[in-house]
Amino acid sequence: MTHRVAVLDKELCQPKKCGLECIKYCPVNKSGADCIILNEEIKKAQIDEDICNGCGICVKVCPFDAITIVNLASELATDKIHQYGQNSFRLFRLPTPKKGEVVGLLGRNGMGKSTVINILSGNVKPNLGKYNDPPDWDEILKYYSGTELKSHFEQIRDGQIKASIKPQQVSQIAQVFEGTGKELLEKYDERGVSNQLTKELGLENSLEQNLKELSGGELQRLAVAVAVSKDADFYFFDEPSSYNDVFQRTRVAKTIQNLTKIGKTVMVVEHDLTLLDFLSDYIEVLYGEPAVYGIVSGILSTKVGINVFLDGYLPSENVRFRDKKFTFDVSSSTTEFQEGNEIIKYPALEKKYPSFSVSIESGKVRKGEVVGIMGANALGKTTMMKMIAGVEKPDSGKIDKKVKIAYKPQYLQNDIDVEVVSVLDKANGNPIEGSQEEEQIIDPLKIKKLYNKSIKNLSGGELQKVAIVSCLLQKVDLYALDEPSAFLDVEERIAIAKFIQKFVRSFEKSAIVIDHDIQLMDLISDSMVIFEGTSGVEGHATSPLSKTEAMNRFLRSLDISFRRDEKSFRPRVNKLDSRLDKGQKESGNFYYRR
Ligand code: ADP
Ligand code: SF4
Repeated sequence: MTHRVAVLDKELCQPKKCGLECIKYCPVNKSGADCIILNEEIKKAQIDEDICNGCGICVKVCPFDAITIVNLASELATDKIHQYGQNSFRLFRLPTPKKGEVVGLLGRNGMGKSTVINILSGNVKPNLGKYNDPPDWDEILKYYSGTELKSHFEQIRDGQIKASIKPQQVSQIAQVFEGTGKELLEKYDERGVSNQLTKELGLENSLEQNLKELSGGELQRLAVAVAVSKDADFYFFDEPSSYNDVFQRTRVAKTIQNLTKIGKTVMVVEHDLTLLDFLSDYIEVLYGEPAVYGIVSGILSTKVGINVFLDGYLPSENVRFRDKKFTFDVSSSTTEFQEGNEIIKYPALEKKYPSFSVSIESGKVRKGEVVGIMGANALGKTTMMKMIAGVEKPDSGKIDKKVKIAYKPQYLQNDIDVEVVSVLDKANGNPIEGSQEEEQIIDPLKIKKLYNKSIKNLSGGELQKVAIVSCLLQKVDLYALDEPSAFLDVEERIAIAKFIQKFVRSFEKSAIVIDHDIQLMDLISDSMVIFEGTSGVEGHATSPLSKTEAMNRFLRSLDISFRRDEKSFRPRVNKLDSRLDKGQKESGNFYYRR
């Protein structure tokens, strides 16, 4: 038996602009019933899930792709925890928080992770799907009787739960708080730990500044510090990695783990798998269909949880939630390039600013190649890109050939009220709709649905995809992408990595990608440049190195070694000073390759 789920994207549904095709062609409507109607009040389509037969005709005829119909096992119906409204997203089951442990939430964007956080922190009262007639606490507690979550909800009911949340979008903190980092931290520091956190998170030099002047990474770490310094029982961190480099990510992870040592309960949403693996004691996987429904898996060990997610298969429930398995095939990741086939060759370059200098060893970028750049923040990675692009003149070293370069910056501007399609038209130089580029770039990356949305209404992940696509649409030789992973979920990261690689190979272009997600960098790069030095003072870049050499060098400086998961071949961080860790470090194989 199945039950029907019909979800309408209210932003995409535009009855004024279409011919009401869904209403006209629905066979149940034709038989005289009111299955799809136009809700006059909100001027949107409305679907009656009880009489819908799931044929999917409306899905096909809607010109704006606004409708999704899915059939779910009817047993799930009793597991429904929350539904926002009619034809809206719904969440099935909840993860169980664990005292003194970090539980990682892993799933695609739009699968309900924020909804979970809002419910467990007491910000949203779960309605068990009865959005029209929400249940009272007695009914909710009865539903949870005999489970670990019952006492959790009793505490929420009695106002006894204190939750602290690090929100996803840290830029919003700077918009609402006038003042310095120090003032913000002191305002919330109920545990008297601000000095310690400042040191742990490397915020010594940033706290005197006004929030609006901080870099994304500084703001991210400040937001983590604020959340940790509150005296709460439950701590939630929504994507603590964004904008931080690998060193800073490790610091953030340790700070979060310290909370569990004093018995706190922690949940983390994170798409950097290396970090999630390193950070979590347990994983709960969320699967389903983005913006339509989400199901929580039940508690799994970190290793099993991440592998379940990559496999797209949950054995305990015998559910396949993705056709494709993600593997990190080690052999396919090295490509042979022919000599002499360069887009650009550069000599040793140097650039000095009054308080910062960077030196770069000579190198070349070949046609079809993706050069990955890794290293701490503030070592001159952007300066290198600018010199290669001819925007910035080196003090020593000269670049002969001018290459045309398109740049996707790390921080994206979202406060503009412009339709996505016009941004893409401009990048493309021609109308995008019906163009060849639409087929080559837009379709594979699945962003057509966003055409008529305004930039200011996009989620972080959607905005990132639009920015990446706008970069790739430009007719240049070299594409430079700064932190393309930010706010993308794991599936999107893998899809983008594979697409960029395929794109530069088939069109004989090249790409330079800066990112701090080690797994993404492993997947996308053909060769790698490693930046070393002292952040904000002086930086040094190697020539492009082979991936193994580069990773070993980079990880040596981090003092982290990796082994390969025997199933998915994904790299996993070795526990510090474990047998494997010591052995690999001794032999210089920080990044173990089979
Ligand atoms: P995630 O955090 O995993 O990205 P969310 O919990 O934010 O997922 O959202 C899941 C879905 O629920 C999204 O499609 C979102 O648009 C929808 N949603 C979230 N909040 C509301 C709300 N207040 N009303 C209606 N829909 C909502
Ligand atoms: Fe009507 Fe079929 Fe759409 Fe259900 S799926 S609303 S029956 S057209």
